[in-house]
Amino acid sequence: MKRIMIANRGEIASRIGRAARELGHVAVGLWTDNEPDASHLACCREWVRLEGRSHAETYLNIPRLVALAKKHRIDAVHPGYGFLAENGDFAEALAGEGIVFIGPHPRAIRDLGDKAVSKTIARKAGIPVVPGSAGAVKSARSAVEAARETGYPVLLKAVAGGGGRGMRICRDDKDVEGQFEATGREARAAFGNGDLLVEKYIENPHHIEVQLLADRKGNVFHFFERECSIQRRHQKILEEAPSPFVADDEALRQNICAAAVHLARAVGYDSAGTVEFIVGSDRSFYFLEMNTRIQVEHPITEELTGIDLMVCMIQSALGDDLGIPSQEWITRSGCALQCRICAEDPVLMQPAPGKVTGFATSFPQGTRFDNCLYAGLEVTPDFDPLVGKLVTKGIIRAVAIRKMAAALEGLHIAGLKTNIALHKEILRNANFLAGRYSTSFLDVERPQDLIKPDLEHESLYRQLAAIEAARMGM
Ligand code: ADP
Ligand code: ADP
Ligand code: MG
Repeated sequence: MKRIMIANRGEIASRIGRAARELGHVAVGLWTDNEPDASHLACCREWVRLEGRSHAETYLNIPRLVALAKKHRIDAVHPGYGFLAENGDFAEALAGEGIVFIGPHPRAIRDLGDKAVSKTIARKAGIPVVPGSAGAVKSARSAVEAARETGYPVLLKAVAGGGGRGMRICRDDKDVEGQFEATGREARAAFGNGDLLVEKYIENPHHIEVQLLADRKGNVFHFFERECSIQRRHQKILEEAPSPFVADDEALRQNICAAAVHLARAVGYDSAGTVEFIVGSDRSFYFLEMNTRIQVEHPITEELTGIDLMVCMIQSALGDDLGIPSQEWITRSGCALQCRICAEDPVLMQPAPGKVTGFATSFPQGTRFDNCLYAGLEVTPDFDPLVGKLVTKGIIRAVAIRKMAAALEGLHIAGLKTNIALHKEILRNANFLAGRYSTSFLDVERPQDLIKPDLEHESLYRQLAAIEAARMGM
């Protein structure tokens, strides 16, 4: 029995707490002055106050988190995603105190966290990478040179970027010259590193990624692919597994999965992680980046394979046996979908802060809802707008979609503007239903334009009625 501290909040903190409990460990949750009633505390055996309100004072505060871990005799810390999940200094500071970081070793975090360094590693390992500059470009001039050599259009991309931020599309020299300074400045402010790289901008591609799990004994397994092309602002909002684009192309699936495993072996990877690829309409695939953490969309892979990735990630870090005898033993069945439920305007797709006054659910059989909702939850502008992840599974894709449509109908959140209406429109779109979509889906198909404002009002009334009914135990 180990004492596991959760250095995060929101739905992922609950997810970690539930997995730790299942393994018989003591989950220690943190609460801040912003969120003394955080829902993840219900999934923990002990609660510790993390003083402060801003992220810098709390979940990004390495000295304070390490001191709390020492004080509360913590054996291992899970960082979740975001915050310090991909911070090599945090992993190292914990290791210095003899505390296990539930993630990969610090060198993997650092090398793979830099998009320029990770591309070099991938290229050396013989994996195709998106064409572009060899490493970071240091001036607007060398950026223009790299862009010409690569061929327009290109992306100017922050090497330390994440969450879809720090990227600009440039269609000519003037764009690169005009955007270089500002993109670098923004990257420095957001990620503490202003370095940029130049990359070929692939038009209408697919974002396809491979879930990996490695242990500290040298085993690396893959759990097939996820299709994450439904995005706004370069960030995913709906994911599915398997990819309808890969579909029955077993050769493509095996090649992408083998490339991901190969990269993990090349860096001696030893935890859960994801290798992201950009796949062109001609089915050529390129390494994009590796995320050295558990990802937001891991539940669909769990539903697809029946394997609890969070449990395995904790076991791996503690040096325990994963109980996975071989790669062949890992199989997939059916199809799983995830809709990210965000506090955002469904039409503008921009964050809409607010306060949850109540919520009620009535889901079809087999629905999973990982969330951080409670009456009183306040989503402020600097909080992650993600409040829940609705996950459905079907023996075939059509069933998973049907269940998701019903689940969205049965999810009522009062007091908060959410993107539920957007998800409903996506699920009604003919090209989505046919599995024909790329990362330009929302720009081209514009399902958001079909959302009627009056419909929103009507659903608000229904939401309130349903929540009242739930409160009365009806
Ligand atoms: P995933 O790749 O798991 O789908 P996202 O790109 O949606 O992840 O990011 C997951 C969360 O982590 C989001 O809340 C995002 O804002 C945050 N995040 C990701 N990378 C970074 C980063 N480099 N710096 C700060 N926050 C990040
Ligand atoms: P982040 O660290 O923010 O997740 P990524 O490099 O993974 O950044 O890219 C996020 C998304 O941006 C991708 O899923 C894709 O939609 C888009 N993107 C990134 N690089 C390219 C590229 N070279 N060509 C086309 N789209 C890209
Ligand atoms: Mg990414």
